[in-house]
Amino acid sequence: MFRINLTLFFYLPIILIFNSFFMTDNYAIADQFSLLSKLMDIHGENSFRSKSYSIAAYSIEQLPVQLAETPREKMAALKGIGDSTAKKIIEILDTGKLIALEELISKTPPGVLEMMNIKGLGPKKIATIWKEMEIESIGELLYACQENRLLLFKGFGAKTQQNVMDSIEFYLRHQDHFLYAEICAYAEVMDQLLKKSWPEEKISFTSAYRRQLPVLEKISWVTTIEKKILVQFFTEHSYQIITAENETIQCKGPENILLEFYLTDKQNFAKKLFDTTAEASFLVKWNLDTLGKNMEADTEDGLFDAAGIHFIPAYRRENPAIIDLARKGPLAQTLSDADIKGIIHSHSNWSDGSHTLEEMSRVCMEKGLEYLVISDHSKSAFYASGLSEERIKEQHKLIDRLNLQNQPFRIFKSIECDILNDGTLDYSDDILSTFDLVIASVHSNLKMSEEKAMARLMKAIQNPYATILGHMTGRLLLSRPGYPVDHSAIIDACAANQVAIEINAHPRRLDIDWQWIPEALEKGVMLSINPDAHSTEGYNDTHFGVLAAQKGGLIKEKNLSSFSRTQLENYLEQRKHSRKI
Ligand SMILES: [Zn+2]
Ligand SMILES: [Zn+2]
Repeated sequence: MFRINLTLFFYLPIILIFNSFFMTDNYAIADQFSLLSKLMDIHGENSFRSKSYSIAAYSIEQLPVQLAETPREKMAALKGIGDSTAKKIIEILDTGKLIALEELISKTPPGVLEMMNIKGLGPKKIATIWKEMEIESIGELLYACQENRLLLFKGFGAKTQQNVMDSIEFYLRHQDHFLYAEICAYAEVMDQLLKKSWPEEKISFTSAYRRQLPVLEKISWVTTIEKKILVQFFTEHSYQIITAENETIQCKGPENILLEFYLTDKQNFAKKLFDTTAEASFLVKWNLDTLGKNMEADTEDGLFDAAGIHFIPAYRRENPAIIDLARKGPLAQTLSDADIKGIIHSHSNWSDGSHTLEEMSRVCMEKGLEYLVISDHSKSAFYASGLSEERIKEQHKLIDRLNLQNQPFRIFKSIECDILNDGTLDYSDDILSTFDLVIASVHSNLKMSEEKAMARLMKAIQNPYATILGHMTGRLLLSRPGYPVDHSAIIDACAANQVAIEINAHPRRLDIDWQWIPEALEKGVMLSINPDAHSTEGYNDTHFGVLAAQKGGLIKEKNLSSFSRTQLENYLEQRKHSRKI
């Protein structure tokens, strides 16, 4: 009854190769031939042979007798099976494996193998995605779909792209980790439902979910609802009860998201909430620091008072060092959604976005924002229809016209400029000087050593036209780790060159990671919560950037997108002046 937005059926064929156990019934053998055929197609091998293995797979499934029990000399004569297939069947029966298949598997990146689980992706399409788009994981593929990048390749229309996206989202939901953004709507609905069902009881989010971590394994609550009542409630709603102990219940519904409940009574609620919210090392220090104190309280505020420590919001109860900070004085007020004054980093349909510049700015105005920084892709990003010098001039004319019409709202002229392989930016200084600001990002050749990545980024940061460093590591949460960088050295360089660091708010990026925000602030670097919107709906991602920024203690005075239009104008002007451009 409380399923929302989540698909209800879960069946997806899991690739057999991950099963290490020895299975030699006809179905298992057929699966190996089927996989062999698909992998041969993906690798562009002899299509006649791959077809024959695909037919063999089908024929084996239809056989009235078990191959394991068939005399070997009779095998080649079975319907749909020839000499070559028979040999391979015997190999499987004798050794439990098929060398030809194992060789192909070893030549295929795991993420590409995983793509075979995505409905609607046949071997030909996977080959294009891997070899031509150079995408090697499902997460990257999803991101490419969201950026409309599939449309540029033969065989991929808008409908296919949408189907691929739906299938991937479906598939990813069945993994045991989730992006915060994927499950927060579900968490809220469940929370409301519980509170409505038991208005007299205490119920609160806790643990990693309450701390707003970008990647989660479960949604947790502390509650005074009785164990047997909760168990009955979830059982009635066809949830699977995983554990039901005196202090915790874990269960899973058809959405496949793990729910966890810490059980307590009203008297101990605040303490239980505090204890289960904090990250482990935070709690260890807290307990040491408050040892011997009378720590009884009805609220979390009361606990902080009893400890003689200023309040630390739940989302900052990670690194124990913050406890000493909060003992010295109140923590600075972190920013919130209301402190976002404009959209920085967005793409229109001039490059790979879905909406026109007019639509993008209209929605900003409707949201009461003061400005839009339009930053389409630069010319080397051919896959994203990056803008040629000519197109830039045209776009600037349009921006001038719209700015006259829409005063005091302003579109800032920007570009998401590719940082090329050698660290140079994608245009001449003449062109770069026509922008109000430049977001410099790496989009190509992401597989780099730290040395290479650092040389490339450092050179870009030193370019006086680089105003903001976009998605610093290129990571995609739950699917791509990002190239290795020395964060501290980059923060130092950004400080020295007055380059702001983006907090890319796309929930799959959240790059730079929140853990580096305190160091950036300490060194006087500006940050910028940017949605990297490819449509007007993309503006909503800003919220996830805010949640991550809160974890890092970002204050509005240090966030570019919290600047008013005039503050941003002044900032950019001063920066240009001091960088002599
Ligand atoms: Zn980008
Ligand atoms: Zn972008």
